[in-house]
Amino acid sequence: MENKRYNQTTTSIPIKEQERHNRELSATLNNLINKAKQNQITQEKFYQLELHLLQSTSLTGLFEKLLVELSQKLDLEIVELHLIDSNDEIQRLIHDIYGDLDYENLSYHKSESTLNEIYQGNQDILLSQDQELINQLFSFSSKKAYSVALLPLIRENTLIGSIHFGSHNKQRFVPGLATSFLQHFGSIISICIENAVTQEQFKLLSLVDLLTRTKNRRYFIQSLTKEIARSSRSESPISCLFMDLDHFKEVNDSHGHLTGDRALQSVATTIMPLLRKSDVFARFGGEEFTILLPDTSQKQALEIAERIRQEISQISIANDLNQAFKITVSIGVSTWSANKASMTYEQVQNYLISQADKGVYLAKDKGRNCVAVAPETLKISNC
Ligand code: GH3
Ligand code: MG
Ligand code: MG
Repeated sequence: MENKRYNQTTTSIPIKEQERHNRELSATLNNLINKAKQNQITQEKFYQLELHLLQSTSLTGLFEKLLVELSQKLDLEIVELHLIDSNDEIQRLIHDIYGDLDYENLSYHKSESTLNEIYQGNQDILLSQDQELINQLFSFSSKKAYSVALLPLIRENTLIGSIHFGSHNKQRFVPGLATSFLQHFGSIISICIENAVTQEQFKLLSLVDLLTRTKNRRYFIQSLTKEIARSSRSESPISCLFMDLDHFKEVNDSHGHLTGDRALQSVATTIMPLLRKSDVFARFGGEEFTILLPDTSQKQALEIAERIRQEISQISIANDLNQAFKITVSIGVSTWSANKASMTYEQVQNYLISQADKGVYLAKDKGRNCVAVAPETLKISNC
């Protein structure tokens, strides 16, 4: 009975209208299928990108992907990363491992306040075509965007940063657009940042000397290789200081090992403020320290070494009985200039180390508490 009534109704629609209706239905269906396909492609693209980001084990690697590659991969005019780094922890970590690392689209914030202002206490993704806001956000960028997506980066309910996407296309990030892809993407980026910071912290632990907080021998050698290559390219001189504390065995024998440890710490904290950011200061082993001085001539290196020698001789160290005693250091200096001779990087490395080492022996021979250069251009001061 129901079927009959239905048939009657359908047959009452004129055939032409039915055809038009079918065409409309089919167009709508095609549209939906295309949209679904498009969504699938987008989803796949994000999925691949997320995997690519998740494979990052270093902050530099991750920054390269986020700050350089991402704009091409997502066809974006602007990508900016903002990180909250209240105690400069991330910046120090990067500096300690990689030296200076500059990206114009990376900025650090002392507190959450600027980013909280953008999100207005809310931790939701923000899509906008508001040109005033866009101009304000990207005031330092030379590129122009007409729509933006701002993704808060959150870990355990805490805002750790924000990543800003700017598109030339005004319709790209329209308020009301589904944001689940972006939301997921933001979460992945947050995890990647947290993970890379942790990895770098571990890496740094393997490169520093825990007693003196200076770098260790491994870091020194790695830096030496890098700096030799750099000084070779820039044809600038590079110098090395090798320092060996004088009669340190006696310090331990007379005052105990713990006092000896404190003396080593005092030496490190005395030297640190005398150096530039680009210098590499390491504990080479035992009571021996090394300093790599990029872009430093022999004359300048001798001046720095002499200053260090003097400063160390002024330190007053207290033993467990609160009795003060002094220590001294013997320093060997070596310098290499790219125009000096044609050597492989490995030969330069060996030359710098062995020359500085010979300098130390020479300074010891001459009575200790002095600076020496060995052997070709023999120069000795205060011996
Ligand atoms: P020289 O002037 O010829 O360099 O004499 P020295 O006594 O400094 O040289 P030597 O190599 O004989 O002794 C080095 C001493 O440094 C022996 C060792 O106990 C001490 N030392 C090495 N590492 C540490 C450390 O981590 N803590 C302490 N307290 N002492 C250390
Ligand atoms: Mg020694
Ligand atoms: Mg010694």
